[in-house]
Amino acid sequence: MSIIDKALEANKTYAKKYDRKLGAHPTPKIAVVTCMDPRLSDLPGILGLPQADIDVIRTGGPAVTEDVLGELIVSNRVLGTTEIMLLNHTGCGFTTFTDDEMNAKLSALTGDASPAPMRFFSYKDAEQNTWEQIKKVRSHPWIAKEVPGRGFIFDVETGLIREVQPLAQHTTA
Ligand SMILES: [Zn+2]
Repeated sequence: MSIIDKALEANKTYAKKYDRKLGAHPTPKIAVVTCMDPRLSDLPGILGLPQADIDVIRTGGPAVTEDVLGELIVSNRVLGTTEIMLLNHTGCGFTTFTDDEMNAKLSALTGDASPAPMRFFSYKDAEQNTWEQIKKVRSHPWIAKEVPGRGFIFDVETGLIREVQPLAQHTTA
């Protein structure tokens, strides 16, 4: 049985105990942009916040793409979140290759080129990347200035998160 088919079976059990109050219109308080990495999935546990309070936006990295900015704006302006947290982590898979390498590898593997070089938003330095991504959030004119946007790194070895501070060496040339 495929994983999806097993999940469909399990969902029937889940639905029997489902709290229907959770179906009410969501009123999240904080938007968290984090990596697709499964180690970041327990955000209520990692952050000690109720699931209902967290609007989760996940990308590899996490990269703050145009799409992510759009989702953050909706999260703030439509759903009413008042803080933005960017949560990177140690040991990210997106540090293990470059976009160029991945494009070359997949073109060779499949015998087909992507219509345009694919952006995977790979990076090398978690601290620098976190700061660069949070800067994109902070500088967007449609994200209200009173909404704090802060960047953090989750240590997959210890479970602790620490804040990324702006450093002179992190300014992009
Ligand atoms: Zn990651």
